[in-house]
Amino acid sequence: MTKKQYNNFCLHIDERNIATITLDVPGHPLNILNASVIQELDDIVRQVENSNSIKLAIFQSGKESGFLAGADVNAIAAISSATEAINIVETGQNLFQRIEWLPIPTIAIIHGPCMGGGLELALSCDYRVARDNSSTRLALPEIKLGLIPGWGGTQRLPKRIGIRNALSMILTGKQVNATEARRMHLVDDAIDPDFWERDVPRFVDRIYHGMKPAAPDRTWKHMLENSRLGRGFILHMAGKSISGKQESYPALGGALRAIQASYGRGPEGFATERNEFVELLGSQTCRHLLDLFFARERARNLHTWTTAKGQSQSPASISHIGIVGAGAMGAGIGQLAAVRGYDVSIREISEPAAKAGNDRVNQLINDLAARKKWSSRKTDRLRSKIKINCDEAVLDQCDLVIEAVTERQDVKNGVFAELDTRVQKSAILATNTSSLSVSRMSEATRRKNQVAGLHFFNPVHRMELVEVVRGEATDAPTVRQLVSFVKALGKTPIVTTDTPGFLVNRVLFPYLGEAVRMVQEGINPELIDREVRRFGMPMGPLELLDQVGLDVAHHVANSLHEILPDVNPVLEFLEEMLAQGHLGKKSNIGFYHYQNSKRGPSAITHENEAKSNTALIHDFVDDGLTPIQRRLVYPMLIESVRCHTQEVVHEAWAIDMGMVLGTGFAPHRGGPLHLIDAIGAHNLLINLRQLRDQFGPRFTPPKALVVMSAMGNKFFGPEETPEEALATTT
Ligand code: NAD
Repeated sequence: MTKKQYNNFCLHIDERNIATITLDVPGHPLNILNASVIQELDDIVRQVENSNSIKLAIFQSGKESGFLAGADVNAIAAISSATEAINIVETGQNLFQRIEWLPIPTIAIIHGPCMGGGLELALSCDYRVARDNSSTRLALPEIKLGLIPGWGGTQRLPKRIGIRNALSMILTGKQVNATEARRMHLVDDAIDPDFWERDVPRFVDRIYHGMKPAAPDRTWKHMLENSRLGRGFILHMAGKSISGKQESYPALGGALRAIQASYGRGPEGFATERNEFVELLGSQTCRHLLDLFFARERARNLHTWTTAKGQSQSPASISHIGIVGAGAMGAGIGQLAAVRGYDVSIREISEPAAKAGNDRVNQLINDLAARKKWSSRKTDRLRSKIKINCDEAVLDQCDLVIEAVTERQDVKNGVFAELDTRVQKSAILATNTSSLSVSRMSEATRRKNQVAGLHFFNPVHRMELVEVVRGEATDAPTVRQLVSFVKALGKTPIVTTDTPGFLVNRVLFPYLGEAVRMVQEGINPELIDREVRRFGMPMGPLELLDQVGLDVAHHVANSLHEILPDVNPVLEFLEEMLAQGHLGKKSNIGFYHYQNSKRGPSAITHENEAKSNTALIHDFVDDGLTPIQRRLVYPMLIESVRCHTQEVVHEAWAIDMGMVLGTGFAPHRGGPLHLIDAIGAHNLLINLRQLRDQFGPRFTPPKALVVMSAMGNKFFGPEETPEEALATTT
């Protein structure tokens, strides 16, 4: 029996000559693949290659947090030349190839996250077993960074799980749990955590004694799909399905080409994978998605949002959440908090409203349980964490109460005044308002310093961003506690000042308003929405307005009067629609007709496309946008600059992240301020002046942009990337 301790690994060889290679990267909560891990793994593999006695090798993690979270993203972002990239890719490819070629059986024992390079390592082993619990997740998520797997993932995965499953995992980066992984033969066994200690050694024993796991039962469908003809057809269809997105997301095409090459002869597939990876690493999309990755990390760092003075104090813990109002938002927030382990009490205004709220929460819980295939016991346990009633005292002992009632300042002030008299003195009172003043609500209480905004987006379970709004009197410990709470919910926080619309609605509404004006001018709603989707937004502005509800949009736009000075024509147009009962999707008619929640044709009379499009053509400096895109996107750029100047959110990276996560602003473009840098302040100024002359003063360039243009400044110098800023805060 021998044991050798490395910096990151422990190599243990037992009396049966089974080598167990355990990874435990020091100083990291999760194992990651960095240069030193790769170097040590290379040494260990060489030792196994040179040994005549080792009979079997096991790869596992020494951390309870998981197997391997993937390559170090910092190291990927720091690659500075194609030669360096080629070296790194080839080193990993060769190492994993050597593991695959080892003459002895190899097994990866997986629990927790097994992502990216972690899954590629596991795929180079002969066998894989995974612990069947909720924290086990397997994925090749590189596409989310604008990359493709570079260490053999595109080559081995299709062979292992079939072309269709592999395409779905690689092109979307989706995660699968142990049961799904077993179903698609990505792992040979999904082991119940209760029998983990017993069944893992049993699995190893069987392999040791030469018993192979039963070969997967291949159905005729699987065989057809993976025949040469079937494969060709599936790849062709996949190519068609990504054809509209490839320009913005070149990694989709790169992944497809690498997968296609995996069926070629010899090392050709690995070379294609390597070349595609290296080329993608230099793409703008990849740089923007990497920036976004670091921005998220930075936003989740408590120190980003709180002053150095308060850092030593750790936030008091919140365990019991109160919510006022079980409408769309209150129910969503309540369900999410319960899922994350909090006790939740919701107070409603009447018995029927409480009953309706209860139905809403139950629906959300049932949908989640169906998605996750939960047992009824687990579902009931979650349900029991949420209490909804009209009992006045129900919120008294809560640590945090979130108000989510009707969007009216007088109603909200009344709720805050009453909460202040009842709820324990240490509790924080927060509001989910979209557009009203947090500071005014705080004035209704005697704990102004403990009042803040907590602006969730709809639907709560799906939207990642939460705006934490600092009112005029909100103190640092309150902000810190709310940021921690948002993180504990699995969301990304952004701290904003208390100005109308905070960040996201403030930037979004001028754009939505411009879309309404274009409809008023006779431009086809379908054309507007199509152009915006081509720009990279997940849906067009008019589809979004229909979804939000025109009554809600009207209400918010009205409260943003201060920042939308010439909004009256937009409000009047919406009022006409509302007067006809056109509320959007919920009334089956808005800018579009709807049937069974499906969008139908436009419900607005419009002029023909060619005419409406040419009416916008002018002599603009080329900014890569079409006339319709320019007219719609520029208002967001103007407002983002204003938010930056007025420090609604302190830093440029955070504004961009907020707009991408809060509205889906074309992620491949990096956010509105990255887009301004790409267009150039000078070019933007010229185009804005033209738009102002054509459409009015709302397109007047903000002063800050004029200064930027004169000074040749950008928002993001090389020294201001979120990645480097992160390095200074962690
Ligand atoms: P909603 O109308 O669906 O729900 C409001 C609920 O509050 C109702 O169930 C009502 O019975 C209850 N209520 C009213 N007064 C009450 C009181 N005094 N005590 C207890 N309950 C009371 O509204 P919603 O869409 O959930 O919005 C709630 C808040 O969230 C608003 O401030 C809104 O601006 C904000 N918001 C909404 C969205 C959205 O898309 N719906 C998104 C972000 C923020």
